[in-house]
Amino acid sequence: MSIITSAEAFLIDIPVETVRTDSVQAFLKQETPFVRIKTDDGLEGVGYSYTIGTGGTAVLAMLRDYLVPKLIGMDSRNVEKVWNEIYYSTRATETGAISSLAMAAIDTAIWDLKCKRANQSLAVVAGGFRDRVPLYDTEGGWLHLTTEELVAGAKASQAKGWPGVKLKVGKPNVHEDVERLVAVRAEVGNKMHIMVDANTSFTVAEAKRRAQAFEPIDLFWFEEPLPADDVTGHAALAKSTSIPVAVGETMYSAMQFQQYLHQEAVGIVQVDVARVGGITPWLKVAHMAEAFNVKVCPHFLMEIHVSLTAAIPNGLYVEHIPQLRGITHTQMKIENGHAIAPTTPGLGIDWNFDAIEGLRIS
Ligand code: MG
Repeated sequence: MSIITSAEAFLIDIPVETVRTDSVQAFLKQETPFVRIKTDDGLEGVGYSYTIGTGGTAVLAMLRDYLVPKLIGMDSRNVEKVWNEIYYSTRATETGAISSLAMAAIDTAIWDLKCKRANQSLAVVAGGFRDRVPLYDTEGGWLHLTTEELVAGAKASQAKGWPGVKLKVGKPNVHEDVERLVAVRAEVGNKMHIMVDANTSFTVAEAKRRAQAFEPIDLFWFEEPLPADDVTGHAALAKSTSIPVAVGETMYSAMQFQQYLHQEAVGIVQVDVARVGGITPWLKVAHMAEAFNVKVCPHFLMEIHVSLTAAIPNGLYVEHIPQLRGITHTQMKIENGHAIAPTTPGLGIDWNFDAIEGLRIS
């Protein structure tokens, strides 16, 4: 037995490490709800979730007022039971962003406990397929950057040996997007992967037009061309272009991915461990994608996604956007263009609790 004897939720605000913009939004701050769980066998699990600037206090209220109190007395070893009982206790508020973001903070704490109990790393406990994953950089590709800055960012990534870069698209005129992408391709050559991301900003017709214009640039994927609810639109787009369509960061349940995969509306699955509700559903999505012969390149949260991507056979890339350097003692290791999965027992994130306490807002 590993009975939960105490659990608490709190919220911190982490300032952004750099200005980040895309076609629909800016990353304002990382609101980060934490959950700490203690068990009667002397373990402590720490889990977390995030928003990019709005909704954090709603997630905290969901945790404090409804979900966290239900954990007391449960056996933390029963990962599926905890997830299902806690999540479906919210019936009237599932499926949705607030519930899933709240569940992720709980479920990642439960997995932290599971790994610590096994004295193994998350990468091993979650599957154990490899110890490192290729890295692509998003940090040099934001929409407000000039073409010269995009080129400089891509060249810097290439100089470090990173195999891919992602550039935001969605300028008012298609020719502006094309000009920026052509400039980067011309500088980095044909071997580097270039991904683009429209952050859900296009209609189907406009996405088809942009994809056609992007075809000669040899893109690795076209991310979030349309609103995430539009599964049929993504399917139509995917049929019209040779560029793989990547989606997942704006999806909040495993079954949403099932619909995309079933309709051949997605070529790269970008499941986000916080937004989908934790590691438990994340792994279901990843394995489901494997059964459809689709690769997984999770969105953001590189510090935990490095372990999960290393755990699965169909993991392809980890996204480089560092955001936890201010609240951790050590950083994710990068070697020769690869992110190295931590080997320490637990989630493998070296939290600095003094720094976390200093950023606490509730
Ligand atoms: Mg994106």
